[in-house]
Amino acid sequence: MAKNSLFPCPFALPCDTFNCSQPARWFVGNPDGPLSVAWKLCDDCARSLLDNPPKELHPGPRQEAAETPGTPDPEPLACTCGRIFTGVTAKATFARHQKVCPTVNGWAKQSEGES
Ligand SMILES: [Zn+2]
Ligand SMILES: [Zn+2]
Repeated sequence: MAKNSLFPCPFALPCDTFNCSQPARWFVGNPDGPLSVAWKLCDDCARSLLDNPPKELHPGPRQEAAETPGTPDPEPLACTCGRIFTGVTAKATFARHQKVCPTVNGWAKQSEGES
């Protein structure tokens, strides 16, 4: 369970942001902890927070992929013809390619006309 998250604020409370007088719509904090210590945000403030994270916190696509547990990138598969298959669908695509690959099936060098 996440220790900190954005969760709906069903109460009529003001936004905690300085100089913002809109009604709060979101709590920021531990959903299991006391709401009195959670931060309250209106729609606009919550959105601007999510839309403008500091660069250090911005999840880059590479970092995100590296931190995803349990889903390692499958080994790339290389065909004898030189084509390389990568990604989650590599195995299926490779198997399909093997059936139609001229190099694997010997269609590329039909010199003797043996068929
Ligand atoms: Zn606000
Ligand atoms: Zn091939």
